[in-house]
Amino acid sequence: MNETIFTKIINREIPADIIYEDDLCLAFKDVNPQAPTHILIIPKSPISKLTDASENDQDLLGHLLLRARDIAKDLGVEDAYRIVINNGETAGQTVFHLHIHLLAGREFNWPPG
Ligand code: AMP
Repeated sequence: MNETIFTKIINREIPADIIYEDDLCLAFKDVNPQAPTHILIIPKSPISKLTDASENDQDLLGHLLLRARDIAKDLGVEDAYRIVINNGETAGQTVFHLHIHLLAGREFNWPPG
């Protein structure tokens, strides 16, 4: 996988508002928030997009979702939030390092735009 801006955030080469970190993942505030709460949860291992995840990534993917759950609770938004993974350019992915968007603090429409 080519290095992205998220690798630079993991390596502390560029700044980010990091709110959580462990051995497997990092969570930080989105620089261009689409909701009052907008957090990105990323694996430290380089997976470009969900399509490229393998069966070996099963525990990691579960870990990311459970940490998203915990972060929502820590931020007090556990009653209503939206989890988004954009997979591929046409689906809105702009950074090709797998990430989970955690969005909260406003109403969300369905179907999503
Ligand atoms: P996506 O469009 O799903 O690939 O999401 C990429 C997200 O990364 C967007 O919401 C951007 O606002 C966010 N983003 C890009 N660069 C940074 C950065 N340096 N720090 C925090 N968030 C970023």
